Amino acid sequence: MPNIKKADLIPLFSFPRQRILQSMEVTHCPHAVFYNASDEQCTTCHQGEECIWMNHNDELVAIEKKSVDELKQQLLIAVDFIDSNLSPHHLSRRNCQCDNCKWLKKVQQVLDGEGQ
Ligand SMILES: [Zn+2]
Repeated sequence: MPNIKKADLIPLFSFPRQRILQSMEVTHCPHAVFYNASDEQCTTCHQGEECIWMNHNDELVAIEKKSVDELKQQLLIAVDFIDSNLSPHHLSRRNCQCDNCKWLKKVQQVLDGEGQ
């Protein structure tokens, strides 16, 4: 079991927060990106997944109260999102220094228990 610290996980949330928010068509959302599970508009929205993530992990949510496992899970969703948004030249990402790749590398290190 790698030794994963909450204090290492929490700072990793700010980057995907920005990216996901940027990618969402916030102006078309009648709810200003507040997910409402009982609203059909929300449950059928093509941005639903990103929206749910934002509502679970934005600055208003006390993520420091979540367990390491929960944080890990949410982080992995964010990894999928960032990963699927990489442009084709990231196919060789070993030496890529773009913000996405740097973030992905950092997440990998923390999840492997290597800290900073
Ligand atoms: Zn890259």
